[in-house]
Parts: sequence; structure tokens; C-alpha cells
Amino acid sequence: MKIKIGMKCEECAEINYSTFKNSKTHTEKLELKKFCPRDNKHTSHKEIKLKS
Ligand SMILES: [Zn+2]
Repeated sequence: MKIKIGMKCEECAEINYSTFKNSKTHTEKLELKKFCPRDNKHTSHKEIKLKS
């Protein structure tokens, strides 16, 4: 089942990205280094659930 997720900046708590993932094949929480426009640098972003 595909679910919609958001990627939230760990530093400023801004949700900068949203994507889909398969909740059966990716059961662990995603954590990625992504560019944050608010911080103007790469920060670690963690998955949060979004209502689709
Ligand atoms: Zn940020």
C-alpha cells in the first residue's frame, strides 16, 4: 500500500518535501540528508505521515 509522507527538517521543523512510499516494503522510518531552503543548507530530514 502506498502512503504519502512528508520529509521534515530536523533543525527548523519545516516540511520541505513530500513523497510516496510503500508501507509494506519500507517499514522503517526514512531519514535523509536534504537541502532545506529555510536553513540554506543540507540538514537531516525525517519522515512524517501526511493525510492524503
Ligand atoms: Zn530546516
